Amino acid sequence: MGDSGPEARAEASRWTWGIGAALVALAAAGALAVVRPWMAVLPLGLFLVACAAAPFFPAWGFFGKTVVRGRAEPPGVALTFDDGPHPSTTGPLLDLLRERRVRAAFFVVGRHAAAHPDLVRRMAAEGHEVGNHSASHDVWLMLRGSRTVLREIRNGNEALAAVGVRTLAFRPPVGIVGPRLFPALRRQGMFAVGFSRRARDFGNRRVSGLAQRLLPEVRPGDIVLLHDGAVAAEGGAEQWLDEVRRVLDGLVAMGLAVRPLSEHIDRPILG
Ligand SMILES: [Zn+2]
Repeated sequence: MGDSGPEARAEASRWTWGIGAALVALAAAGALAVVRPWMAVLPLGLFLVACAAAPFFPAWGFFGKTVVRGRAEPPGVALTFDDGPHPSTTGPLLDLLRERRVRAAFFVVGRHAAAHPDLVRRMAAEGHEVGNHSASHDVWLMLRGSRTVLREIRNGNEALAAVGVRTLAFRPPVGIVGPRLFPALRRQGMFAVGFSRRARDFGNRRVSGLAQRLLPEVRPGDIVLLHDGAVAAEGGAEQWLDEVRRVLDGLVAMGLAVRPLSEHIDRPILG
């Protein structure tokens, strides 16, 4: 068959920039070893530095492909909300999105979905897309073994399946990737979604001025990261919602549409 089927794509995705970089580093070290042996450590050292930095830069695709941007034309962005659902934020946020006719993507934590299944059902019923943000939001997940990584993804999926949602998209906790993530996602038939713009809200711990920080940096094609979790800032959930409202207003003023993530990246989110 043609090479555009999902299996062929999964096969191709096994080749990563990391593998390419390793081969280049080895070849360079081999060549240098002949001329100036001590210099052979330089490409190997650089490769190790790249390995150490790559988890923090998913866009490099060093360990595997992470979708971090969408289409720029027609001018628009996708909004993503991580860490929910939460009883203090999700309901009011869904009200606001419904009022503005905006469809967002929610990357939910399995344990929170299990605690508040009705909120996840409401997300799906109101046309939002839902992704898996791991079962327990372990911020050190990428340092754990393969089995733990797979279990966190699978348990997240099961929590969503319990409320009738099957998702294809996974966003790792704190947006950090690692070498064990991509084989685990392939086994689950899923792909990784990152982001290209964030409000530096530290998971709703810094809400004041959120829209003002975010809007000047937003560009067409961005996948914007916001949070749908307890607001540990002075103004509480109300202030946070005001900021989200300002973001929506600002995007309209900038002539940027907010489109569903699947449309933005031209790939289904829900299976
Ligand atoms: Zn998160």
